[in-house]
Amino acid sequence: MTGIIVRSTGSWYVVREVSTGQMHHCRLRGKFKNQGLKVSNPLAVGDQVEFTVEEQTEGAGVIHHIAPRRNYIIRRSVHKTEHAHIVAANLDQALLVVTLASPATSFGFIDRFLVTAEAYHIPVTLLFNKTDLYDADLAEYQDQILHMYGRLGYPGLRCSAQNGEGLPDIDGLLDGKVSLLSGHSGVGKSTLINALVPDLDLKTAEISQFSDKGVHTTTYAEMLEVRPGTYLIDTPGIKELGLVDMKAGELAHYFPEMRALLGQCRYHNCQHLHEPGCAVREAVDKGRIALPRYDSYLSMQQAEDNRK
Ligand code: GDP
Ligand code: ZN
Repeated sequence: MTGIIVRSTGSWYVVREVSTGQMHHCRLRGKFKNQGLKVSNPLAVGDQVEFTVEEQTEGAGVIHHIAPRRNYIIRRSVHKTEHAHIVAANLDQALLVVTLASPATSFGFIDRFLVTAEAYHIPVTLLFNKTDLYDADLAEYQDQILHMYGRLGYPGLRCSAQNGEGLPDIDGLLDGKVSLLSGHSGVGKSTLINALVPDLDLKTAEISQFSDKGVHTTTYAEMLEVRPGTYLIDTPGIKELGLVDMKAGELAHYFPEMRALLGQCRYHNCQHLHEPGCAVREAVDKGRIALPRYDSYLSMQQAEDNRK
C-alpha cells in the first residue's frame, strides 16, 4: 500500500493510506539509509512510503520502501555534534506567517526563513497577519514591505485571522498542494490553521490516537488535510528552520538580489563586507538592494562565521 507520513514520533509513524485516507500506525523495517544525508530521522512528515499491514503485527503496519524525496526542509541542531533533523519532505510551497503588528516579526527572521527555502528550492509566500490592528501608517508601511519582497520573487498577502481578510486567498493558494505553514509564535498561526482546516480538532485527535502515548515529543510536524489533495504541514514547537552547513561565500547565492550580482565583484571570493570593488555594496549604496535585506545578510554571515 502507498501512504504519506502525517506524523512521526521517533520510531513510530502515522501513515495516511493514499487510496482510502485511512490512518495506520507503522514502523520502519530494518535499517534505512538516509539517502546520503547526515540527519537524525530516516523518515519525515510528507514522505511517501510503501507499507504492509500484517495480521501478526496487530494492526500495525511495516514500512518497507521510501520514495525518493522531491525536496525536504531541515532544522539544524543547536549543537554542532548533533545531526540535523528533517522537518518535512515533498513540499510544494511554504507559507510564512508574519506580522508587522505585535509581536512584529523581524526582517532577520523572515530573511533567514527565505534563505533556507531558497536553498531547498521551495517557493515561499509571506502571509502578513493581524491587519485588523493596522493603522494608516502601518498599512502604508505594509505596502512597502510587500513591494520589497514581491520584487525579489516572494509574493505576499495581507490577512487577518480575526476578521477574515485574505482567508479565501490563502485557501486558493493552498489548493491542490502540500504547504508548510510556519511562523514565529504569537503571529496567529494556530488561529489561521483553525480557520483554514475544517474539523481541525477531530483531525488532530485522529492522528494523535496513533501516536505513542507517553513519548515526549517537543518538536514534531503534522500534516493536516484541508480537503482531499490539499494539505497543510504544521510545525508546532519548531521556532525556526535552519540551513545545513554552507560553504564559505555561499550565503549570497540565496539572496536573489545578490545572486544576480555575483561575479561582478572585484574579488572572486568577495564576502560583500568591506572589500573594494564590491558590486553588492555598491547596489546597497545606490538603494538597489534594500538595507534590511543587506542587514540580514550581514548578521547571517556573522552567525555562519561563529559556527566555524
Ligand atoms: P501562534 O503562536 O502563531 O499559533 O498564534 P495564535 O494563533 O495562538 O495567536 C496569538 C494571539 O494573536 C492570540 O491571542 C490570537 O487571538 C491573536 N491573533 C491571531 N490572529 C490575529 C489577527 O488576525 N488579528 C488579531 N488582532 N489578533 C490575532
Ligand atoms: Zn562583493
